[in-house]
This record gives sequence, structure tokens and C-alpha cells, in this order.
Amino acid sequence: MGLVSSLRTFVCGHHKRFWTRSGIDKNKALVEHLQQYGVIKSKKVAEVMETIDRGLFVPDGNPPYVDSPMQIGYNATISAPHMHATCLELLEDHLQPGMRALDVGSGTGYLTACFAMMVGPEGLAIGIEHIPELVTTSIENIKKSAAASMLKDGSLAIHVGDGRLGWPEHAPYDAIHVGAAASEIPQPLIDQLKPGGRMVIPVGNIFQDLKVVDKKADGSVNIRSETSVRYVPLTSRAAQLQDS
Ligand code: SAH
Repeated sequence: MGLVSSLRTFVCGHHKRFWTRSGIDKNKALVEHLQQYGVIKSKKVAEVMETIDRGLFVPDGNPPYVDSPMQIGYNATISAPHMHATCLELLEDHLQPGMRALDVGSGTGYLTACFAMMVGPEGLAIGIEHIPELVTTSIENIKKSAAASMLKDGSLAIHVGDGRLGWPEHAPYDAIHVGAAASEIPQPLIDQLKPGGRMVIPVGNIFQDLKVVDKKADGSVNIRSETSVRYVPLTSRAAQLQDS
């Protein structure tokens, strides 16, 4: 017997649960799926993704617990769960309690809420999004989530703005995440990264790489490619809304 049949039993059981229980349980099953596939390795990342129910952030009419990106209007998408998980894993050491995080192109607010849970009430999680309607919706989403209290106490905030300029008010940041693909890394974001900090940003046009930018203590940066990705472009609001 062994591995194959026990694996099959496990997968079937998992599948059934995935489809028959309530939102929180389905969210938990999604997280377990990402753990099984090795996308989530960290216990902390699993806990946070279990605590922030993705179902609250995906617009009605879309299946929230499927590992795929979904349209959220305005030519934007909520990233796939495995991409959220990958970025949380890459940034975990820079999202310790009390640290500061910036989420550029915060969209639904899902990842900003996860960042807030990781840095805690002593830390700071700032989202920037250039579509005002998405900012409004993201704040409504967060209010229903486990991160609601942090929105109240100011350790989590979402602002309307051009994320290519960063958010200088609270710089420097330990962690910067960019949820849209830039043709090149915006200099203000490099400037707003703390020495010892890390930025995760998709770079490219049609073919994109998820880049990991580490700023060393002396201020120099080291950039490596993590994986190939497909994100919506980091662009102007007018360009984004053009072909909608
Ligand atoms: N992490 C988000 C991703 C949303 S898609 C989520 O999973 O919900 C990328 C987002 O980047 C879109 O909401 C888009 O409106 C936004 N965006 C694109 N260019 C931007 C810019 N220059 N400044 C701010 N936001 C931008």
C-alpha cells in the first residue's frame, strides 16, 4: 500500500472538504493545498493566509478559493493565491512584528491585510492604489476581515496614488511589494527601501520575472530573478483604463 493509495485517500478527502464546507474552511483547505504543493513552507504565512479569508476580497460571482487570478474590474485582477503565498514567503523576514511594509498596486487589499497581520499593531502596512474605486472597495473588504482593527488604529492604511512614486511619508520600508509589472524598477521605490530591506517586484512587459531586490547595509542593491510571472502593468491610470 503505501504512499499512492494513502495519498489518494488524502487528496479525495481534501477535495470533498474543499467543496462542501463554509468559507473559512474552504479558505483553510486552499492554504493546506498550497502547503502540500510546497508553495507555503512557513507556519506564519499559513496562519496569516488562514486568518485573512480570501473570500472577503474576491468580487461576488467569482470562485474565491480556486488557485487562479480573478478579474476585479478596471483592468485589474486579484493575484492567484500561489502568487500571494510566494510573495509572503519571500518577504517573511522583512514582515516581522513592528516592521514597515508598502504594498504598491494594492487592488483588493488582500495582501496589504496579510502584511498588517504579520507586522502587527506596532508595525505599519501601507497600500497604494491608483484606482479610487478599488481603494474604497479594499477598505470595505478589510473592515470585514481579521485586519479590521488595524485599519482603525492606523497601523494599516490604503491611499490613492501613483505607486511608482512610493509613499515617502512613512519611508524607509523593510518590505516593499509591487503587485503590477514595471518595465523597470522605479527609482523612488529603491530609495524608499530600508538598508537590510527587501522588495519583490515583477519586471518586464510580455515576459516578466519576479525580481527580489535586497538592499544591503551599505545601501547597495542586489537583484535576482525568482520566477517567471504574468501581472497587469504598473502604469498610469489613463493607460490602464484605456482599453476597458
Ligand atoms: N495585489 C493586488 C493586485 C491587484 S492587480 C491584489 O491581489 O488584489 C495590480 C493593481 O495595481 C491594480 O489594482 C492596478 O489598478 C494597480 N496599479 C497599476 N499601476 C499602478 C500605479 N502606477 N500606481 C498604483 N497602482 C497601480
